Amino acid sequence: MKNKVFEKLKNIVYEVNEATDLISALNIIVQRTKEVMGVDVVSIYFRDHITNQLVLMATEGLNKNAIGKIKLKQNQGLIGMVVNQAEAVNIEDAHAHPNYHFVTETDEISFHGFLGVPIIQHRRVLGVLVVRQARKRRFSVNEEAFLVTLAAQLAGGISYAEKMGELKLLLNNKEDHSLNMQGLSGSPGIAIGEAVVVFPPANIDVVPDKHITGTEIDEQINAFKYAVSNVDIEFKELSKKMEGLISSEELALFDVFSLMLQSESLIQTIINRITAGQWAQGALRETINEHVKQFDAMQDEYLRERAVDIKDLGRRILTHLQSNNSHIQDVTGPVILVGEEVSVSQFSEVPMEHLAGIISTKGSASSHVAILSKALNIPSVMGIDNLPVNHVTGQKIIVDGYRGQIYIKPSKAILDEYSRLIEEDNSLNDELNGYINMPSETLDGVHIPLYVNTGLLEDISPSLKSGAEGVGLYRTEIPFLIRDGFPSEDEQAVIYKQVLKKFSPRPVTFRTLDIGGDKGLPYFPVVEENPFLGWRGIRIMLDHPEIFLTQIRAILKVNNYDNNLRLMLPMICDVSEVDEALVLIRRAHQELCSEGITVDFPLIGIMIEVPSAVYQMDALAKRVDFFSVGSNDLTQYLLAVDRNNKQVAGLFDSMHPSVLSAINHVVKIAQKYSKPVSVCGEMAGDPVAALALVGMGIDSLSMSTSSLLKVKKTIRSFSQKQAEELIEVALSMESALSIRKLFNDALDKAGLKKVMKGFN
Ligand code: PEP
Ligand code: MG
Repeated sequence: MKNKVFEKLKNIVYEVNEATDLISALNIIVQRTKEVMGVDVVSIYFRDHITNQLVLMATEGLNKNAIGKIKLKQNQGLIGMVVNQAEAVNIEDAHAHPNYHFVTETDEISFHGFLGVPIIQHRRVLGVLVVRQARKRRFSVNEEAFLVTLAAQLAGGISYAEKMGELKLLLNNKEDHSLNMQGLSGSPGIAIGEAVVVFPPANIDVVPDKHITGTEIDEQINAFKYAVSNVDIEFKELSKKMEGLISSEELALFDVFSLMLQSESLIQTIINRITAGQWAQGALRETINEHVKQFDAMQDEYLRERAVDIKDLGRRILTHLQSNNSHIQDVTGPVILVGEEVSVSQFSEVPMEHLAGIISTKGSASSHVAILSKALNIPSVMGIDNLPVNHVTGQKIIVDGYRGQIYIKPSKAILDEYSRLIEEDNSLNDELNGYINMPSETLDGVHIPLYVNTGLLEDISPSLKSGAEGVGLYRTEIPFLIRDGFPSEDEQAVIYKQVLKKFSPRPVTFRTLDIGGDKGLPYFPVVEENPFLGWRGIRIMLDHPEIFLTQIRAILKVNNYDNNLRLMLPMICDVSEVDEALVLIRRAHQELCSEGITVDFPLIGIMIEVPSAVYQMDALAKRVDFFSVGSNDLTQYLLAVDRNNKQVAGLFDSMHPSVLSAINHVVKIAQKYSKPVSVCGEMAGDPVAALALVGMGIDSLSMSTSSLLKVKKTIRSFSQKQAEELIEVALSMESALSIRKLFNDALDKAGLKKVMKGFN
């Protein structure tokens, strides 16, 4: 029984996730659960958080007239008991239970067996899912497990459907009100623009079955034919674009695709399956997989490879079936880029001058999309996981990167308010611009150089204009991420040279390729269960010396300006990694010298971003010239909080006492060996955290351009001594909350409230 019922669970959850409004989602749940469990009644009660009542929202088996009318007090009856206990209640004879509450409208006198489970999201009880049986019945452990599992998986779908319903209402409504959604701040600032939606590649293997009947069949056939014709147009356009760029044999592949799209065996088979009651996506998956299997089994290698083409074709059709619009249109005005997981390459598809804001349904403040948007000074909001991405194309959206909120189709009042806030920001920026040429110095004259983090050529001019004293972190992986293959030594050297030349004589710290984790290269896929604990950064480079040496040669080669180049190794966990990397770097240097390219050997530093490195500081200090703390990863690894996971984003705080104490240790040991130490993670750009780091005795800070002047103003408002006193108190505190309060109050008192906006 268990497996049979649990098999259906996947389908129910999928259908609910596909529902376009809350009521349809709830109706799907009650209907399907009644069929699967063979019970007499299934109902859903929702908690009205304003009146604190439990309202009957959907039922199968009870009188439907009672929907919306039955309102129970929060602690009334067995339903109230489920809410209060926030756990399942399973009772053989509800009538005999002291908490039983009789409700006439639903004629429920005749039901005895009762099983109710809470629907919980983010610790909040949203409602109760109840099944009832006329006769006395104690539901089995399996049934209870099924219902609990179902409810646990439904919360996300329910809140998504709720937002979707609100959105539909809003879009069809002429009235002046907006839809507000809460996520996490990715990059501070406010942007107003038109939504352009980008979609990830469709995954055909995860499409479930779905049974359709009646008019749905014709609708699905039409949707399928429309998707096919769109793919055909796409191929014709692509083939035209590629003419002259690829060989005629490769070009002929597009004709093969077009022929496949007309092929009776493929297209008609899919239509037949839809006619038999399978929805278009399911019919496509079944047919494509059937064809792939046939090709895979062929002897001829050429034909076997056609399996890949068929899969690609299926994926393209699926993309059209799943989305309304998968192209970035020719944009003219300010654009808000919206996607499930906006990638670096999608950034570059919108002309920079039009890219006003970014919304990603996945990720958090420390994911790389957020870091990049900060580098480019583009407001972004991450982790709005219940945003109906498919339905916002072309809508006006406000991105509030300070509060991590968005407004879809904003009302006039909201628009006016945000236009005022943009003006306020502009005037703060004008004020901050006055600091560009001032030294980054504490009140008692301690110079704390402020560097920028970059990796994009577009970012160079704004960085220079902001008065940065150099580049503290050049993320070399970024040019690698927006290509189709590893760049050659010369291609890399061209990029590095530009950066070095532009910043000369100021120092530029190139970090060697730090891929893995959430920075996958499309042409070098690394599939792992735990990518952040896996093949990442220096580990990949030491395993692939050919890639590492090419990069090192490309970097060293351009060190012939003012000897302002520095080299930094990421993700160091062990001294042997430093030793091995140094051997390779020396080899590359010697090779260049013997080729007649005489360049200075640069200063070599490492990133401290893994706890093991914190505790090997003495050994590491004997090997390298400088340190830079990667507080993003150090926080992730010390607190065991995935930097990309919205679910635990509230736990990610670099002001956590353990993180501060680890950084303090790093600074102290580096000082013992007279080795300079910097911080280049996001905390360096947070004025509050920057002050804490100054108090520890950090030598320099490296951050996004957009934070630089705010941090400079902060540094200029305190003496090193004041910062030392604050950090001494902070290091004896027990929580990030109290530490933040300590520094917030200090900044507030110094008249720096405005520069803290968006950093708490
Ligand atoms: C860090 O981890 O703090 C860091 C600067 O590196 P990245 O964010 O690129 O991983
Ligand atoms: Mg890092």
